[in-house]
This record gives sequence, C-alpha cells and structure tokens, in this order.
Amino acid sequence: MAKALIEWAKAQLQDIEAAGLYKHERLIDSPQSVEITLADGQKVLNFCANNYLGLASHPRIIEAAHRALDRWGYGMASVRFICGTQTIHRDLERTIADFLHCEDSILYAACFDANGGVFEPLFGAEDAILSDELNHASLIDGIRLTKAKRYVYKHLDLADLEAKLQEAQSARFRVVVTDGVFSMDGDYAPLDKILSLCEAYDALLLVDDSHATGFVGPTGRGTPEKFGVLGKPNLLLTSTLGKALGGAMGGFVAGPAPIIALLRQRSRPYLFSNSLSPVVVATAKDIFSWLSETTELRDRLEANTRRFREGLTRAGFDIKPGDHPIVPIMLYDAVLAHRMAEALLQEGIYVIGFSYPVVPRGQARIRVQLSAAHTPQHIDQAIEAFTKVGRNLGILRYSPVS
Ligand SMILES: *Cc1c(COP(=O)(O)O)cnc(C)c1O
Repeated sequence: MAKALIEWAKAQLQDIEAAGLYKHERLIDSPQSVEITLADGQKVLNFCANNYLGLASHPRIIEAAHRALDRWGYGMASVRFICGTQTIHRDLERTIADFLHCEDSILYAACFDANGGVFEPLFGAEDAILSDELNHASLIDGIRLTKAKRYVYKHLDLADLEAKLQEAQSARFRVVVTDGVFSMDGDYAPLDKILSLCEAYDALLLVDDSHATGFVGPTGRGTPEKFGVLGKPNLLLTSTLGKALGGAMGGFVAGPAPIIALLRQRSRPYLFSNSLSPVVVATAKDIFSWLSETTELRDRLEANTRRFREGLTRAGFDIKPGDHPIVPIMLYDAVLAHRMAEALLQEGIYVIGFSYPVVPRGQARIRVQLSAAHTPQHIDQAIEAFTKVGRNLGILRYSPVS
C-alpha cells in the first residue's frame, strides 16, 4: 500500500514537472528585505515580497521583537482558553478592532486559519454564501466546511451578484464574500457598491483584506477605508499579519462583538491550535501603534508605486492600470513570462513569472510588488533593467524615448 502510494506520488511529481508547473523554491541567505542575498551569493533587489511597508526586517521592528522576546518569552504552549492568553493577546485584539473601526477582533495563527474558521460556526444548511469567483483559496476552503448553499458570482460583476442575492432571498442568512484586493491583478472590490447591494438584500459582507490592511486607504485602514465603508455594522473583516503588518505570521477576524465572541467559542482553528507567539503579538501591537501615529510608510509606498507604474508605462510595457503596489506586467505568453523573470534576475531584479493555472490561460505575466523600503534609486534600477530586458525580448510597444 505505502509502496503504491509512493510510486503514485513520484508519477504525480513527474506530471507536474512535465507540465512546467513545478514550484522550485529559491533559497535566500539573508533576512527578508528589498536587498536580499541568494544562497549562491548573488545580491538582488527583491520586487516580489508582500513586504508592502518594509517592516519584515525593519530595525525598529527587530528591536521591538527583541524587547517582546525578553519581556514575554518565546512560546505559549497552549491554546487560548487553557493558558494561552497573555494580556498582550487581548491588547492586540482590541488594537486591531480600534484600528479597523470594529467592535472586536479575534487572532488566528494565520489568515488561512481565520478564513478556515470563520464560516462553519456562523452558517448552516439554511444559509447562503455568495463568493467572488476569484476569491482566495482559503476563503473557498472555509466556505466548503459549511453546509450552506454556495453561489459563485462572476469576478466583480455586480449584476451577477445582485441576481444571486435575489435567488438567495429565502435563505436564513446571506453573506457576500470577497477579497478586498485580488492578488493577481491588484484590482479592488468596490465595497461601497457591494455593501449597498448587501443592504438592499439584507446580507452580511465579509472582506478578506490581506493585500490591503496597513496601506490601502488614506490612513492604511484598508479597502473599507478607500471606499468609505469603515465601521459599517454589517461588515466582517479578515486579514493577515503576514504581509504588510510585519510579515511574520498571524491572522484575524474583526467585526461585531457577538460574532467575534461566538467564534471564540466555536471556531475550530482557534480552539484547537496553539496561541500566537508573544513575540509576534507584542511586535504587531507596536506596528499598529506606529501606523496610527503616522502615514509615512504607506505614503512612501504610494509614491514608489506611482514612480514604478509611470516608469514602466513610459518604457512601453503593457501593465494593468491601477494604483495598487501589485503591478501586473502582461506578457500573455507563459514561456516569455518565465524567460523574462530569468533575464531580470541576471540583471539583479528578483521577480516571478505567473502563468496558468495561477492566472487564466493566455494571461501570463510578471507580478511586481512594491515596498515602502524601496528607494527611488531601487525603482529606477528596476525600470532600467525591465527596459533593457524588454527591448532584448522585443516586447515593448514602442521604442522608449531616450
Ligand atoms: C495571503 C493571503 C491569505 C493567507 O494569509 P496567511 O496569513 O499567510 O495565511 C489569505 N487571504 C488572502 C486574500 C491572501 O492574500
């Protein structure tokens, strides 16, 4: 039996490799940052991390983490309800709730767990869940754990969403589920319009704001702030501490206090998984205080994003328009996207080519992600490298003006 399974696994791996889909992991021999050292010693500029605010190895954050380690220890060795809740765990939950204008929040080991644990305690067979077709895998998995009736609406298609809300009118509860920002295109869910539909059809709105919390919106409070719906009572948010907010790990759900309290009683990834490390918790609290004091980091990220998007557009690249620090540079052809990423690495720019099945067939691209830690020089260096490689591959729309 084991032998047959192992043979099957080998064959699967060969199929993955043959289809060109094998994910090889590149080894990094430095902290996560905009300037990293690869295992072979090559120093490159990193343009593919979710390190939006540059906090992953920021000196101020490292110092805060050292202090947290000394004061609170390394691990909790317990779930929350046995002996795994320090004062800082509750402090962070209140801090997150205040920051996002919600009544309360609940921590998880990751946003994957938050999304895996948020649906099953709240929704049953008599309920309806309406989900954008491009929602994150963890939302899809979380929804699968319920017996609720599932409706998948076309990506950001409000007419389709409305039709499905009408179909779902006989359900006990309705919840519309969407990413705030979609990771492959950097496009936003128009939460003002979606929330109007939710109000018209008496539905809750759950937004996974992992690619937005900390930097989207004028003060970094995410997609709800950008669309003016912060603090709305029928809004439930999930997000991660593993991207802009330090990039270590951790996730949360924020929303109405009774819902959060019920999740604490019934949500399985919360009840049956270890407490977040005190180092992560205390440091995350510092990060939220910093973001509440000043918008300096998200402002720098915004300026960097503009500089990069303008530079690449001027150079003649086909990029998806927008203002999010996720910048999709469209190549359409999978082989070309991967060749271009290789050539850029030779030029000291680390980016990744994405192709089917991560993006639809014929939509291959390079996805660049900007960080507040990039300097204008880093960005200009990247624009120069893209232009050189783009010219060599003959993909620029026109010759750049010199
Ligand atoms: C990254 C991401 C997650 C997973 O977050 P983790 O904290 O790393 O588990 C969930 N949802 C979305 C939309 C994401 O982008």
